[in-house]
Amino acid sequence: MKIVMAGAGAMGGRVGLYLTESGQDVVMLDKWQDHVDAMNDNGVTVHSYGETTNHKVKAVFMDDYNEPADLVILLTKALTAEETIDNLIKQGVITKETKVMSLMNGLGHGDMLLKKLSVEQVILAVTMWSAGLKGPGELILEGTGNIEFGYPDGHVDAFIEQLKVILDEAKLNGVISNDIVTSIWNKALVNCCFNTYCSVTDKRIGEFGAYEQADAMLIPLVKEIIAVGATKGAKLDLDATMEKFHKMYSPDVVGLHYPSMTQDIHNGRKTEVDFLTGAVSRFGDEAGIETPYCDILTHLVHQIEK
Ligand code: NAD
Repeated sequence: MKIVMAGAGAMGGRVGLYLTESGQDVVMLDKWQDHVDAMNDNGVTVHSYGETTNHKVKAVFMDDYNEPADLVILLTKALTAEETIDNLIKQGVITKETKVMSLMNGLGHGDMLLKKLSVEQVILAVTMWSAGLKGPGELILEGTGNIEFGYPDGHVDAFIEQLKVILDEAKLNGVISNDIVTSIWNKALVNCCFNTYCSVTDKRIGEFGAYEQADAMLIPLVKEIIAVGATKGAKLDLDATMEKFHKMYSPDVVGLHYPSMTQDIHNGRKTEVDFLTGAVSRFGDEAGIETPYCDILTHLVHQIEK
């Protein structure tokens, strides 16, 4: 299968590398020229548990590529996703036969893709893998994960079954989902809460959770997101969510981590907040549901970005 990684940063790099090593025909597209050059000149350098290895991949500067793909895996940051899709359609990489799978964090990617592509083309996914980009061509790859994926309406066809085999052969652990919308909202719920609160307080997840009133901050926000998510078909549960959050505070889980949004702020980068609490606010407006917590957190994060 001809697979194009649209965005080959930390996560696109990991997924693209694993697919390449499993024998798929993969092209890594990226707009960071130094990164593209490094991948082509030296391969991808992987740092993992104290070991460094080199892996051959094919990378092309995003705007210069124009061959049709069977599957495009979208792993830019959410901020540049729509522009990327528009360009890849213009460049002939995404044709009417191409499937496009969004693997980004955040909400609203399905709606964006369905404005431009037919319903048969759009696959949504969510991943528990993580990855770091140390510099051009250099990835930090530790831990394990999976990729849950499916059509928005949950039906399964031969392509979905073939994709599971491809992901499993690449050791990416594919999980076919018949309710990918709920899975995406469940991950977004975590990101809406901890990415924003930890960014505003500049705390690690465990430090935030150590505050004795953390639940009083979280519960009204979670309730807001659950109410808005229900209008989009997501089946979310308050008690299960809070139980999951409490487990996350442990240093053995993610308690010692700064969420990715807080890392983006530390690195002076724009965040994906408009696709997290910002998206919940937009969907809330459409549904006539008030979302004061999401509104103010989105503003606070934008204030910090500036
Ligand atoms: P990333 O920042 O590593 O890469 C995104 C884009 O930014 C790439 O095109 C990359 O080349 C470019 N970029 C990165 N550093 C740059 C620099 N210094 N100069 C110029 N360009 C640079 O983003 P990511 O972590 O791969 O995230 C992609 C999507 O995957 C996001 O939606 C994210 O939320 C999601 N995601 C990430 C992880 C993770 O652990 N990294 C896990 C799950 C989901």
